[in-house]
Amino acid sequence: MTLCTKNKICPNCDEILFNVKYDFEFRKILQCHSCGLMISDPLLSQRELKSIYTKEYYFNKDLFQSDFSRCYGYIDYSGEKANRQKDYLKFFKLLRTCVRNKKKHISLLDYGCGLGYLMEVAAKHNFNVSGIEYNEFAVTYIKNQYNYDVRHFDGGNDYFDKSKKFDVITFFDVIEHLTEPEKALKMAFDGLEDNGVLAILTMDMSSPVARVLDEKFEDIRRRDHIYFFSRKNLRQFLLKNNFEILKIKKFGKTFNIEALFHRIQNISLTLSKICLFFLKVFPFIKGCSLYINPGTKILIFAKKITPGRH
Ligand SMILES: [Zn+2]
Repeated sequence: MTLCTKNKICPNCDEILFNVKYDFEFRKILQCHSCGLMISDPLLSQRELKSIYTKEYYFNKDLFQSDFSRCYGYIDYSGEKANRQKDYLKFFKLLRTCVRNKKKHISLLDYGCGLGYLMEVAAKHNFNVSGIEYNEFAVTYIKNQYNYDVRHFDGGNDYFDKSKKFDVITFFDVIEHLTEPEKALKMAFDGLEDNGVLAILTMDMSSPVARVLDEKFEDIRRRDHIYFFSRKNLRQFLLKNNFEILKIKKFGKTFNIEALFHRIQNISLTLSKICLFFLKVFPFIKGCSLYINPGTKILIFAKKITPGRH
């Protein structure tokens, strides 16, 4: 076992992190010996965050190249739009079973709203949508494309009117990217109505597939991923931040076949080459999509614990 050089504290159980779970040449992944939460070491600096979250984040052709410094974002995010929105429809069906109020227009804040694809689906289903996003290119894109209330934020606390409360706040593929997830949960707590619902989608590092893939698990290698939760420690982390769990579901993803075959190279380059050769022989399946649920992602619905309102 190697040791990390600087003491870091687990935000979940306040223990000192000293186990190095993965020692990549570019960074270490530390693991809390108490709760198992894994955290990238060192954390990304503000300068690095600014250089990662640009327009290129959504169109990063180098994602699967060997250079780690370029391992972030998406190859063609807009090409994934239709498939992502199919998955969001599944999410909204589940959400409806958790939201108690009978309002016609439920207010929803998408925290880390990217290019607005989730907000677009929500708006079509009568939600009043708002978004906040770190990537300034994305904020400008949404403002040009839609009429949604979207704000840029850079980690401060003043990006939303404190008097504005939401029925739903979503963190979709977001919490693993944050340098201070506890601060984001505090914002969600303050920003939710008393019966409001927080929905978080993130990786489950305790899932059998993530454990078998181990250091080959794509999510562990991405430079933009900082926090790696398991089902158990995310539940603890939410409880610590005054949220109780309503529901936890494994949540799959609809893949474009060609994109999926490219991603396989993280696990096996040979297998990826065979699959891509197969595509050359049968080019008509290139545009097809496939829903896969390997259990590596969990969707958690939680509500805030308000004193006296259990
Ligand atoms: Zn811990």
